[in-house]
Amino acid sequence: MHTPLKQRQGIQDEIGRLAQTLDRLIDEAIQRQKEQAAHQQTLELLEDVVLEMDREGRLLETSKAWSKLTGRTDDPRGTYLAEYLHPEDAAVLTAFVGMLSSGEKQTASARLRLMCAEGRECWVELRLARTAEGESLRGVLRDITQSYLQERHISHMALHDALTGLPNRVLLEDRLKVALQTARRSAHKVALGFIDLDHFKEVNDSLGHKTGDQVLVALSERLRRHLRAGDTLARWGGDEFVVLLPDMPNSPAVQEVADKLRQAIDAPVQVEDVDYSLTFSAGFAIFPDDADTGEALLAHADRAMFYAKAQGRNNVQFYSEMSRKGLGKKDLYIQQRLAAAIREKRILPHYQPQIRAADGHVVGFEALARWFDPEMGWISPATFIPMAETLGLIRPLGEALWHRALHDMAAWKDRDYTLAINVSKRQLFIPLFADKLLEDVEAHGIKPQRVTLEITESIAMMDVDYGIDRLRELHAAGFRLAIDDFGVGWSSLSILHQIPVDELKIDQSFIRRLHEPQGLRMVQIIVAMAKTMGLLTTAEGVEDAATAELLRELGVDVLQGWHFARAMPQEELSAWLLANAASKAH
Ligand code: C2E
Ligand code: CA
Ligand code: CA
Repeated sequence: MHTPLKQRQGIQDEIGRLAQTLDRLIDEAIQRQKEQAAHQQTLELLEDVVLEMDREGRLLETSKAWSKLTGRTDDPRGTYLAEYLHPEDAAVLTAFVGMLSSGEKQTASARLRLMCAEGRECWVELRLARTAEGESLRGVLRDITQSYLQERHISHMALHDALTGLPNRVLLEDRLKVALQTARRSAHKVALGFIDLDHFKEVNDSLGHKTGDQVLVALSERLRRHLRAGDTLARWGGDEFVVLLPDMPNSPAVQEVADKLRQAIDAPVQVEDVDYSLTFSAGFAIFPDDADTGEALLAHADRAMFYAKAQGRNNVQFYSEMSRKGLGKKDLYIQQRLAAAIREKRILPHYQPQIRAADGHVVGFEALARWFDPEMGWISPATFIPMAETLGLIRPLGEALWHRALHDMAAWKDRDYTLAINVSKRQLFIPLFADKLLEDVEAHGIKPQRVTLEITESIAMMDVDYGIDRLRELHAAGFRLAIDDFGVGWSSLSILHQIPVDELKIDQSFIRRLHEPQGLRMVQIIVAMAKTMGLLTTAEGVEDAATAELLRELGVDVLQGWHFARAMPQEELSAWLLANAASKAH
């Protein structure tokens, strides 16, 4: 047929032109067939299922991966996709199909549970789009079970304490925020109490961690049972708990709850046929009487608890009482001296070495703020950094610290050590923070790529969009970004896809629990996740050789902790580096 057509083409009459057109159409059809075959072949290679449905949600066509995913060999054409889903999710799908078919939506996506091969329920992501003409729907089904379960596991771990199953700090702070919001609208009071077990360290030291843990679990269970449904008992860490009573009419009612809690642990707890009798010291602060923010409430309750300890333990103190008696002097003293200490440059960075796990080489240093006061001795950054934030002094303090650190780093110009700087949430929100930092870094002749900014999750949680913009700005300027204390508080991992992160610093609590299944599991998950995302992992709080070795085997890239060195002043650094190099040579 082709040849006679060709013969007619040369002739410029009507038949000739018709022959030309037909020939072109045939070529195009052959071309399209080839393309379709190629598409088909590609589709069959895909692990994802590509599918087409009619406007009622009946399957018209599925790619080969369908039978692999569902383990079914029968022809799915004509059946409803919803039949293969968990009943709750079938309703979601039906709603989507309706919206797409009516043209109310053009595309939709959802996570659904599908009956997969071997009777297993798996999580799939379904993305659907309406075809241009709107007569059918096309979609892709992807098995996301693995990452979904990991994410859920991490989310749960991120909000709960692994040992007791109680809410952790992050969840507590969240509930506190909600409680205060509600209380502001009603005339109710919110009480917050810090509970610290007395002499618990002795239980741990004499009977071992395992028994200590069992006692903690038993006691926390007792305390929890004496609270009402709306109350929260959270584990703050170690043997410290926090109770949140969101709906209290007055302070005598709070006193009543405190008494009940003390009675709750009056009777000894039994662990492996041995009775343990413990007491606790507690401090309460009340909203709005003592403070009107969650932060201040926590700080006041904490102080009241310390006061209770100082009173000889086994008692409950209220912040209002304590401040009436003029206590909390230590904080007042520190607050009064903070501005002067910053001005006179008496708060300085010390440096803790970071070690490459693979070969033990020093790769960089984290700058940690240190303040020595002649009267108070060493004051912890955990005390004065938050104070500087509330007093509006974080900007001059931060600048003084990084100035000095960059100056000290410039001494190592010929080595490519990295410098890690901690950035608190308030700092990130200082106008022109990125510009100022970049200016200073350049003035010291240091490339921003050698500077890692360590940020904590609270930044991202505080004001997601604004925080993310600032972080992107810093990253674009060349700084490396590390997430500090990773694993705690990251209730949403999706944030990792939004922030240009380079490094995850695994939280110390997981390193401390590394020799227990929960801690190990967490580190494994974080390392696996970091690897797939191309992120560096650092473990901090490495206190012994066995932990260091295990972390290296698990594939953690960088190690930091007292096992290698504590943070030290610049003057000691050269000597330490020499000694370290010498010990490695042996
Ligand atoms: P971080 O950034 O998580 O710092 C790690 C903390 O763990 C440091 O406490 C460090 O001294 C300690 N540490 C290091 N190795 C070990 C170890 O093997 N075992 C144990 N138990 N602890 C270890 P530090 O210096 O008291 O700092 C506390 C927090 O204060 C820091 O936590 C950081 O959030 C903040 N901070 C410190 N310096 C600065 C600063 O210059 N700027 C800002 N914004 N925050 C700072
Ligand atoms: Ca840090
Ligand atoms: Ca940390």
